[in-house]
Amino acid sequence: MTQREPAAPMEAGSRICLSACIGLSFPAMSDKREPTPILEVRDLHKSYGKVKAVDGISFSVREGSCFGILGPNGAGKTTAIEVIETIHEPDSGEILYRGDHVARSFKENIGIQFQDTSLQEFLTVRETLELFSKLYPRPRPMEEIVAACSLEEFIDRDNRKLSGGQRQRMLLGIALVNNPDLLFLDEPTTGLDPHARRNFWRLVQGIKAQGKTVILTTHYMDEAEFLCDYIIIMDHGRIIEQGRPRELLLKHFGEAIIRVPEAAIPSASSFSCPFESEDGFVAFRCADTDATLRELVANRVELGGILVERRNLDDLFLKLTGSGLD
Ligand code: ATP
Repeated sequence: MTQREPAAPMEAGSRICLSACIGLSFPAMSDKREPTPILEVRDLHKSYGKVKAVDGISFSVREGSCFGILGPNGAGKTTAIEVIETIHEPDSGEILYRGDHVARSFKENIGIQFQDTSLQEFLTVRETLELFSKLYPRPRPMEEIVAACSLEEFIDRDNRKLSGGQRQRMLLGIALVNNPDLLFLDEPTTGLDPHARRNFWRLVQGIKAQGKTVILTTHYMDEAEFLCDYIIIMDHGRIIEQGRPRELLLKHFGEAIIRVPEAAIPSASSFSCPFESEDGFVAFRCADTDATLRELVANRVELGGILVERRNLDDLFLKLTGSGLD
């Protein structure tokens, strides 16, 4: 699987020369070559005894994108990313970074925000970042990390006294100390309030805007829909669906649901679109929202109280895995 790329611009100089030489004009040809993915995973397997935690997954990640790994508890997400991060050995399969098999130096190019991280006690945020910076030959300047993760207001606070959101921002800062090209975020906003989660999303967007690639696991479907350019959904160690969030929603839920209060529908109305009564509303399930709205207008339906419902990744998740997210 490969993410779609905009066609690379053609070399203008060579096109002008060719058309001038033979006296013809013709449309520019686009270069269809895909750039080398920053990360490619091929047929990865990892078992713990009889449990096939990762059971033959393959995917590739486009540089500069946010790539989401979703799935219910126990689907194999953490095992997969920990094998990719080279923390665990795979049983079989290949992992390529910029087209080459991952080597020792891979760890210098990645940053990891783990689900749980134990920190040295009695240190401030600044001291903690300095400590981690000393582990790398070319650490990112502290002021850049502070700005990228909005750490200014608590940079000199003891790291035991941080709120949940502040702690996650500091852990993001730690993941950035070596100025990695590829950043792994394993459920980075679990337990945060909605405000802190949205703040964190904003930081991830800013990091992406700097050209970094982000691999994100999350149980929050709104987070995946907001941040991810591409997602895979895992279950029982396998990839059961993948694609761009919007495209997957269109593929699985072509129709929209339009709910109209029963009282707003004149008794003599007739509709070609299927509908059913639900809790005082009539729900129209329609592939063509415009056509259904035109029918409602033609039937003199009062439109003030209608609701147009869009399916989201939660719905897709339930449909594909048969379970909700915890
Ligand atoms: P969650 O969303 O709950 O974090 P996950 O999708 O990350 O789950 P994993 O933690 O990768 O899933 O677990 C996948 C399977 O492998 C589960 O059945 C789990 O019990 C098993 N497993 C994971 N780590 C180990 C281990 N060290 N030893 C034995 N079994 C393990």
